Amino acid sequence: MAACIFCKIIKGEIPSMKLFESERTFAFLDIQPLSRGHSLIIPKHHGAKLHDIPDDQLHEILPVAKKIASAVGCEDYNILQNNGRIAHQVVDHVHFHMIPKPNEKEGLG
Ligand code: 5GP
Ligand code: ZN
Repeated sequence: MAACIFCKIIKGEIPSMKLFESERTFAFLDIQPLSRGHSLIIPKHHGAKLHDIPDDQLHEILPVAKKIASAVGCEDYNILQNNGRIAHQVVDHVHFHMIPKPNEKEGLG
């Protein structure tokens, strides 16, 4: 979708810190990280909400999130996926957040 910011990131029209790319999946660092390593994992297929994405475009998402969590080295983390404004979705291209939860000694990360 031409106006979609995440579609532009996938195409390289907007720069991002890319972590992973395959035929169906793209992952990159969040521009406003809640902690160090806060990442977004997205299907390349454009759709605003989870139910807009065909099942076969979603199979890699959690395996990639697992790999990134391991690579970042975080023991504790949240996987978060918002659908719709009331649920705090801001960008209308399905995305899964992987948000490391640093322990107190590490601070914000
Ligand atoms: P949402 O609230 O829709 O679940 O989260 C959208 C996320 O996308 C936010 O965490 C925000 O920081 C991130 N984001 C928005 N625009 C950009 C961008 O241009 N580049 C990157 N890397 N992240 C973005
Ligand atoms: Zn899009």
